[in-house]
Amino acid sequence: MKLNERQLELADRQVKRLIKSGSYYGELYKSLGITGVSSQEDFEKLPFSQKDDLRNAYPLGIMACSEEEIVRIHSSSGTTGLPVIIPYTAKDVDDWAIMFARCYETAGITNKDRIQITPGYGLWTAGIGFQAGCEKLGAMAVPMGPGNTEKQLKMMIDLKTTVLTATASYALLLAEEIHRRGLRDQICLKKGVFGSERWSETMRQRIVDELGIELYDIYGLTEIYGPGIGINCQHGTGIHYWDDYIYIEIIDPETGKPVPDGENGEIVITTLVKEGAPLLRFRTHDLSRIIPGECDCGSKFPRIDIIRGRSDDMFKVRGVNMFPSQVEDILKMVEGTSSEYSITIAHDDEKNKDVMLLTVEGDGRYEFDAMSKKIVELFRSLIGMTPKVIIVPVGTLPRSEKKTKRVIDYRT
Ligand code: ZN
Repeated sequence: MKLNERQLELADRQVKRLIKSGSYYGELYKSLGITGVSSQEDFEKLPFSQKDDLRNAYPLGIMACSEEEIVRIHSSSGTTGLPVIIPYTAKDVDDWAIMFARCYETAGITNKDRIQITPGYGLWTAGIGFQAGCEKLGAMAVPMGPGNTEKQLKMMIDLKTTVLTATASYALLLAEEIHRRGLRDQICLKKGVFGSERWSETMRQRIVDELGIELYDIYGLTEIYGPGIGINCQHGTGIHYWDDYIYIEIIDPETGKPVPDGENGEIVITTLVKEGAPLLRFRTHDLSRIIPGECDCGSKFPRIDIIRGRSDDMFKVRGVNMFPSQVEDILKMVEGTSSEYSITIAHDDEKNKDVMLLTVEGDGRYEFDAMSKKIVELFRSLIGMTPKVIIVPVGTLPRSEKKTKRVIDYRT
């Protein structure tokens, strides 16, 4: 999806502002001879920004305004090394709340709702984002923070909470507790807004079954405001994102080149109006795709698909980008498969093409031949490539106590 005129203008303004500020990115652009962007081509020549840059600029090197204008910082921790610090101006904080309120509205939440907020408060962008959006919407915030299940349930019942915001795992824990204590009749929950982790369809179904609520996936990351830059609507799992605040590109994580709309790749985000720490072409490593066309809900905001994994897990065969969760989705559609599978990729020198072999365990209830045919068909229609498929009896594939390595690549 190309930048529209307005977005291009805003991106140009950001580049010029960064250069003027002398911030980390401003200096980088200057050293590369960049002075602004006036076309899509110009824009795509801008270097990507990465989490590593933010660490290099620790603590406040990416700040692109005077310190007097900064009203708050947030931080995200990496698995290693320095945390990342993101400074916000008053306008940034307000813009984030506006976007978050829009998320709630998209989920059909109104100022009559009572929103119990269980994500953590503090340096994280979680709790405070859910809260600011709730207040902007005019709904009633019940700011619990995480933990203390006893009190969570008491407030949920006494205050007649209608919306639960949580990580999916905490929602599941609460759902199980409500079931165990037989409190289902006393709770008034109608919707759940969950974010910040990839959750499986099984988990989703269990929460729906236990609580009988509608579920919404909220998207966002600390480097780009926080959660609240997009959410799915009642018409499906596609996530509407707010393209007046952010511009999303989907790129091939290997080549860094944009992929056509509809194809899978890595989400790259540009903040169009952020003041404290604008990021242009920030590589999220989250995998998704643009969903082309307009949504049935009538919203003009564009959509990305639900996040399907991380680019580190992605693999490419015959020009088609794939990732393990897609394979898992296909196997779930085929009865008789176990959860175990492995993918071997090699190059056939004679035919000069890549070959992908998918080995899947079958539990013996269905004929292996029919199963492999079905899997091949699903690959062809859903992914657009044809692997070789072998079904083996359950227990054949090696088990690992650590994270199982699913993809073995003999190319290179
Ligand atoms: Zn929609």
